Amino acid sequence: MRTVIVGAGPTGLYTAIAVARRGHDVVVIDRDSGPDGEWWDRKGVMQFHHPHFFRRQVADALLAEMPEVWHGLLAAGAQAAAVPDQPGVLAGLHCRRLTFERVLRSAAQAQPGVTLRTGHVDEVSGRRGRATGVRVDGHQVDADLVIDAGGRSGRLTRALRAPAEGGECGISYVSRQYQLLPGAPYGPVNMPFGVMVTYPGYLAAVFLHDNRIVSTLIARASADRQLAALRAPAGFDAATRAIPALAAWTGPRQARPITPVLPGGRLYNSYRGQRNGAGRVALDGLICAGDTVCTTNPAAGRGVTTSLLQAQRLIGLLDEHGGDFTSCTLAFDRWCTEHIRPWFDDHVHWDTDLIRRWSGHDVDLTRPLPSDLIVAAAQADPQMLTVVGPYLAMLTPPSSLGAVQARAQEIYASGWRPPTPPGPSREELAAIATAAASARTAGTQHAA
Ligand SMILES: Cc1cc2nc3c(=O)[nH]c(=O)nc-3n(C[C@H](O)[C@H](O)[C@H](O)COP(=O)(O)OP(=O)(O)OC[C@H]3O[C@@H](n4cnc5c(N)ncnc54)[C@H](O)[C@@H]3O)c2cc1C
Repeated sequence: MRTVIVGAGPTGLYTAIAVARRGHDVVVIDRDSGPDGEWWDRKGVMQFHHPHFFRRQVADALLAEMPEVWHGLLAAGAQAAAVPDQPGVLAGLHCRRLTFERVLRSAAQAQPGVTLRTGHVDEVSGRRGRATGVRVDGHQVDADLVIDAGGRSGRLTRALRAPAEGGECGISYVSRQYQLLPGAPYGPVNMPFGVMVTYPGYLAAVFLHDNRIVSTLIARASADRQLAALRAPAGFDAATRAIPALAAWTGPRQARPITPVLPGGRLYNSYRGQRNGAGRVALDGLICAGDTVCTTNPAAGRGVTTSLLQAQRLIGLLDEHGGDFTSCTLAFDRWCTEHIRPWFDDHVHWDTDLIRRWSGHDVDLTRPLPSDLIVAAAQADPQMLTVVGPYLAMLTPPSSLGAVQARAQEIYASGWRPPTPPGPSREELAAIATAAASARTAGTQHAA
């Protein structure tokens, strides 16, 4: 079977290696030509230098199919992440996306049967309802199977499939990477990926990566113009100094910045299945996987997990269905609807309600609580952790929180609200960021 995979991101590379190990020829095509020395100005992946945490499921997927990639990541300086207070329980991987993709890409390059090719795929070619390959910069590449792993911004198969559900999630990010100084101790953590603190109006996080590199991140409602000054480097740096959980990791004796301040692009919650508007498989021999199926607000760091879970399932189904691609596609679509789509629905509910609360509204007890509020309520009743913990680790689906919905409602009805961590209120943060950003602008104008 000749397979073409569009996109050399985590989904495309993982799938390519696994398919080639089953004896097939695979060509992976991406418009990006790969890393340039130590740095990688990655085309087509705006989040490349934004913080990533790789969950336990990603580790499991690598260990099951390509354990040498897992060991290569550790050799490259990535660190296995433990569940806080449970040393030895694997929670995922502390690693930059740069390091993750570099190691996975090297494995694909070394894999017999895989060819990496640079180019832009213009269209999927087909004859009599069946995919015959792709057009790459005007040239035909023939294939029996085309896998679209073109990610959240890929447009290749959009016109062939029914429109995506969802849209912008309404939350914006700014982040920056730092190198911890020699001998500087680690700061406090409260999450497997590092630290997260949520305030009424914004959230802040620290992500641990490989080689003593960390990222800080501040997220706000996209419509919150007062916090827009966080996008300015001086505004972001001042905000980072003002939020104790971020300052504990990035003070001048602790760390030095190694990237510019990185304002994020648009963030989506979107879901798009395999079928066309008429409910049929778009093209026999064309299967879409990864972010091109499901994209979720990265606040919960689920994207590479939902992508590699898809890749694993797809590989299994290709084995089961052989050359019957239509049956394989339909089975994959059903599996994604059952196992991947709930994470999209979960985030839509969570984000819609979070933005409502960030704009000053209280918890709405007339409707089911979103998952972030149910999770927070476990601070008031730790017994809820038996349900909340597996959901947080994506070991049980979002529907599992239904078992503690009533208990969480009771907690909020009693007047309890999640405690606010030490640090500036939204209004104070806006004033700090705006003052720093305008002082820098005024200073620059004065100097000019
Ligand atoms: C700000 C941010 C932070 C995130 N943080 C996390 C996190 O902490 N943990 C986590 O698990 N997930 C995170 N994610 C999600 C994660 O980045 C995605 O789930 C992941 O990139 C999906 O991989 P993919 O291979 O499906 O697509 P991508 O990584 O988007 O790769 C697709 C590739 O296909 C190429 N391509 C597309 N169309 C064409 C074409 N026509 N021709 C040639 N090439 C093409 C693109 O250029 C790109 O290289 C985050 C996302 C964002 C936006």
